[in-house]
Amino acid sequence: MLRSVILAAARSHRVERLVETAPVSRSIVRRFIAGEHAEDALQRTRELAADGLAVTIDYLGEDTTNPEQAEATRDEYIKLLDALHAAELTPAAEVSVKLSALGQVFDEKLAYENVRAICAKASEAGTTVTLDAEDHTTTDSTLDVLGRLRGEFPTTGAVLQAYLRRTEADCRELAVEGSRVRLCKGAYREPESVAYQGRLDVDKSYVRCLNVLMSGTGYPMIATHDPRLVAIGEDRAKWFERSPDEFEFQMLHGVRPEEQLRLAQAGYTVRVYLPYGTQWYAYMMRRLAERPANVGFLARALRSRA
Ligand SMILES: Cc1cc2nc3c(=O)[nH]c(=O)nc-3n(C[C@H](O)[C@H](O)[C@H](O)COP(=O)(O)OP(=O)(O)OC[C@H]3O[C@@H](n4cnc5c(N)ncnc54)[C@H](O)[C@@H]3O)c2cc1C
Repeated sequence: MLRSVILAAARSHRVERLVETAPVSRSIVRRFIAGEHAEDALQRTRELAADGLAVTIDYLGEDTTNPEQAEATRDEYIKLLDALHAAELTPAAEVSVKLSALGQVFDEKLAYENVRAICAKASEAGTTVTLDAEDHTTTDSTLDVLGRLRGEFPTTGAVLQAYLRRTEADCRELAVEGSRVRLCKGAYREPESVAYQGRLDVDKSYVRCLNVLMSGTGYPMIATHDPRLVAIGEDRAKWFERSPDEFEFQMLHGVRPEEQLRLAQAGYTVRVYLPYGTQWYAYMMRRLAERPANVGFLARALRSRA
C-alpha cells in the first residue's frame, strides 16, 4: 500500500517540486547518486574500482518527450564513454540505458538509432551497454530493440523483472550463449493482471527465473540486495558449476555497501549501479518505495515545504 502511494507520487509533478527543493533531499540523494556531472560518476567509479568492484553507470532521466532531449541524452552517454575509455575505466565500467530517455515513448525508431549509437561507442571503448527495464507497457518494445542490437553488438544486456508474470518465459528465451541478463525484482507500480503483487510470490518467481538463467548458457547478472536471494545465487552457482567469471552480482549504489565488498572479497564479480545527473527524482522515489524505513524522509520533505 505504502509502496503504491510512493510510486504514485513518483509520477506527480507537484510532489516532485516539493521534494526537489526540500533541504532534507540532499543527504538522501548523495547516498544513492554519484553527483550531477559525468566527472562525479568518473571519480566514484575510480573509487569503487579501487575496492575491486565493477560499475554500471546510469545517466539519470526517463520519459523524454522530444527528440532534442533524447539526442542530448545520447550525446551525454557518448561523452561519458569517451571519458571512461580515456581514464582506462573500461571494461570494468559499462553503462545502463533507459530507452524512454532516448525517445521510446514517442518514436521507437529514434530510440533505436540513439541506443545504437551508444552501443557503437561502447564497443569502440571496449565495454558494453545494458538496457534497463521500465514499466510493463515498454517490455515488448525494449526486448525487440534488444534483439536487433544483439545482432550487431552481441554483449548488449537485458534486464528482466521477476514480478512480471511473463518473465520466466522471457528468461527461457534469453538464457542462451553470450546473452547477458540482469534479473531484478522490479521497481514500478504494476497491475495484478501482469505482475505478482505479494512479496513471497515475487521472491518465488525470482528463484524460478534464477534457476532458468543459471542452468542456461548465458551470463546471469543477479541484481538484488535480498540476503536470501544472494545466498540462493551462491548456491546455484555451485550447483550448476559456474565459476565466478560466468555470472555476477549487482547492487545499487548506497544499498548494502558492506555486502558488496564482502561478496567481492569472496571472489565474486560485483557490479554497482551508479546513477548521476540532475533528474534524480523518479529514481530516488523508487528507492524510497523499496524500503518503508526511508519514508520518514519523504514525510519530512513534504512537511518542510507544504
Ligand atoms: C543493479 C540493479 C539494477 C536494477 N535495474 C532495474 C531495472 O532496470 N528495472 C527495475 O524495474 N528495477 C531495477 N532494479 C531495482 C529492483 O527491481 C528492486 O526494486 C530493488 O533491487 C529492490 O529489490 P531487492 O531485490 O533488493 O529486494 P528487497 O526485498 O526490496 O530488499 C532486500 C533488502 O535490501 C535492502 N534494500 C533494498 N532496497 C533498498 C533501498 N532502496 N534502500 C535501502 N535498503 C534497501 C533492505 O535491507 C531490504 O530488506 C535494479 C536493482 C539493481 C540492484
